[in-house]
Amino acid sequence: MPKRETSTVESAAAGGVQATEHSMKGKSRHEPCEPCDALPACLERQLRYNLCRFEPRSQDLFHALALGVKEQLLDDWRSTRSRDAEGDKRQVAYLSLEFLMGRALGNALLNLDLTQDARHALLPFAVTLETLAQEEHDAGLGNGGLGRLAACFLDSCASMDIAATGYGIRYEYGMFAQKIVDGFQIERPDRWLREGNPWEVRLHAYSVLVPFFGHTESYVDREGRRHIQWVGTQDVRAVPHDMPVPGYRNGRINTLRLWKAEATDDFDLEEFNQGDYAEAVARKNLAEQITMVLYPNDASENGKELRLRQQYFLCSASLQDMLRRHIARFGDDLSQFAKHNVVQLNDTHPAIAVPELMRLLIDVHCLEWDQAWAITSATMAYTNHTLLPEALECWSVRMLGHMLPRILEIIFEINARYLDLVAHHWPGDADMLAKMSIIEEGSEPRVRMAYLAIVGSFSVNGVAALHTELLTRGLFKDFHALWADKFNNKTNGVTPRRWLMACNPQLASLIDRRLGSDWREDLNRLSSLGAFTSDTDFIKAWREVKTANKAALAALVEHECGVTFDTQMLFDVQVKRIHEYKRQLMNVLHVIHLYQRVLKGDTQGMVPRCVLIGGKAAPGYATAKLIIKLAGNVAHMVNSDPHVTPWLRFAFLPNYNVSAMEVIAPGTDLSEQISTAGKEASGTGNMKFMMNGALTMGTLDGANIEILEAVGEDNFFLFGLNADEVARLKEDYRPKDIIAASPALCSVLELIRSGHFSLQEPGLFDPLVDAIESPWDQWMTAADFDAFVSAQARAAALYATPDEWTVRSIRNTAASGRFSSDATIARYRDDIWRGA
Ligand SMILES: *Cc1c(COP(=O)(O)O)cnc(C)c1O
Repeated sequence: MPKRETSTVESAAAGGVQATEHSMKGKSRHEPCEPCDALPACLERQLRYNLCRFEPRSQDLFHALALGVKEQLLDDWRSTRSRDAEGDKRQVAYLSLEFLMGRALGNALLNLDLTQDARHALLPFAVTLETLAQEEHDAGLGNGGLGRLAACFLDSCASMDIAATGYGIRYEYGMFAQKIVDGFQIERPDRWLREGNPWEVRLHAYSVLVPFFGHTESYVDREGRRHIQWVGTQDVRAVPHDMPVPGYRNGRINTLRLWKAEATDDFDLEEFNQGDYAEAVARKNLAEQITMVLYPNDASENGKELRLRQQYFLCSASLQDMLRRHIARFGDDLSQFAKHNVVQLNDTHPAIAVPELMRLLIDVHCLEWDQAWAITSATMAYTNHTLLPEALECWSVRMLGHMLPRILEIIFEINARYLDLVAHHWPGDADMLAKMSIIEEGSEPRVRMAYLAIVGSFSVNGVAALHTELLTRGLFKDFHALWADKFNNKTNGVTPRRWLMACNPQLASLIDRRLGSDWREDLNRLSSLGAFTSDTDFIKAWREVKTANKAALAALVEHECGVTFDTQMLFDVQVKRIHEYKRQLMNVLHVIHLYQRVLKGDTQGMVPRCVLIGGKAAPGYATAKLIIKLAGNVAHMVNSDPHVTPWLRFAFLPNYNVSAMEVIAPGTDLSEQISTAGKEASGTGNMKFMMNGALTMGTLDGANIEILEAVGEDNFFLFGLNADEVARLKEDYRPKDIIAASPALCSVLELIRSGHFSLQEPGLFDPLVDAIESPWDQWMTAADFDAFVSAQARAAALYATPDEWTVRSIRNTAASGRFSSDATIARYRDDIWRGA
């Protein structure tokens, strides 16, 4: 049964928030909204008439408050949409398989300036705003840095009055919850929607159909033009669920549009007529699996069919949505589409947007190839996030041909035309053609998604200066030779609303008292803090805030791990996904080294220290899981020895997520950013810590290099090989020689081998030691260990003079302005999204 593209819904039929997308003239900002009452009355009404609870639980109260806050922003949300629908700003679509949003309440109250109103509204109830806020389940629709970057970018776009829409997937199950049982990671499902999501607005009227399977046929129209039809498809309905993204006190409410997969209403008629009604309906439910679960792998997923379905589902639905909006504004003429729209691809995950936009323009909107290509390649921009080769996505040609036959044809056509260009540039060089082809030949040919993204985009960016440089010198060297102009750097950033103002209100108000509040609009103004580094009152006040934040972190650690952290001690923290390249293992080795020193009585120059490690391992990543187990076992030995605990305490914090980070970053003295140089694309955890006055212990990797440059060597603990040295050493790496020459490393590894940390399970950690001793150890733990230990000793020595440490803490916050995602987004806007 041939399917027509009837998927876009006429806007006249639409209901809900968007029904008035074009009907309301932009209201002036901050006009009081007449139809809804102030927050206290809203809350009361929500509780009484919406939630129908007479004795509300905290969860009900949270829901009522969130619904009340949403009510306060609905008018601005509506007027933002009508302004954008009528205005001339270029619309930005940020396409991402991940949005690691965390909680929304605190952020919304801050940005809408409603925190005091919320406190007022809660007076009749015996609960504080802070307690109630904890009832909200994190929206954990992402793995780590990449997903969190998308969330920070949305906040910055809204705050900078950019018309940006986040397009993502409404996963039923977000990032798994991590439990630690006997020291081992156990994954628990994250049903974050169980209690409902008060922020979302479901807009069935804007749903679209996404085709799968089937086959293609060609036909000739009345004018004699040949067309391709993709027929016999099994369609899945994509239903938008919108979340508001409020800007910082500017009246703009942007949208995060998350697609949910649902069955279409049409049945397989044959099955239906055979009387198999129930079977036919049940089969339809398979469609809903597409948006069931987030893939919990940090380095991207390869080969899983469902993952490809998610990618195509997101891209097709989002592009159809953009085309509908464009046509509603400008009519059927799509020639100016790229002038009015830009798509930012967050890594290669949504790279299939390139052939999908081609398909929509050619098959549905009847454009010629060349015109469609001109539009597509002027619309797409691609952000690369990794240098790890195992993370480069490839999809088998066979799978694509079966699932998305029309898309595969278009990819082949794109490749053929692009290879003509390559052949022209490197005449007679067949190797070059094979090397640069979008199709990797072999027994199982595959589509290289990164190449597809580069070919189809007008901009390709890395996420830190070093990362971009390594991309253009290495992985993408040939593309750089072909199209140097496409390549650019956009160093990542983090939003200062969530990562300073909301998570560290005490530090924010201390800064207000010294600088006034202008820094809240322009984070570069924090640099004025440098003027107060000899003001003893200010230093004292700064340290008092840090100590209070350390107490809050200690309470979290006590509650989650049963380990007591002492706020007088140095808080040394490494939280991020567990991965060999991030070298949590080296950090654990350092803890063991300190442990051995204390046992030997060698505490000369030591400073009492609390070490915290947290993060999730991909469920199938055995080595990462073993590192977690080692950390837990070492922690147990350290914390149960009363000779050791005055000097050293160690905890592994389970279930690291955005909300945990909001407590961790403000309470940290020393931030561990110790990846093998050349492996971490940027890092953003490093920026959150810096903003909150932590000093960085770091290698010359990713954005660490720029942090070092911003804050200066005296305020940063630099150690280890740089990226070039790592590359050179790889040629002839002999870790056994290095270990033999390092008494400290030798005895740490011996202690692990001896079974000291695995008395019940001898040999348990041998694979970790073997890996460090192997000449193929890509992460070069042995090579950097001694340098790491001495940098740690320098940190301890500095911490022993608290005022000196605090001055450097102030300098870190003062220099953090350039790592605001506002600064990053300003550069995307000026260099890539021109006209936005
Ligand atoms: C910031 C953040 C990350 C990224 O941390 P890196 O240290 O840059 O890897 C990961 N997860 C969460 C929850 C974060 O908030």
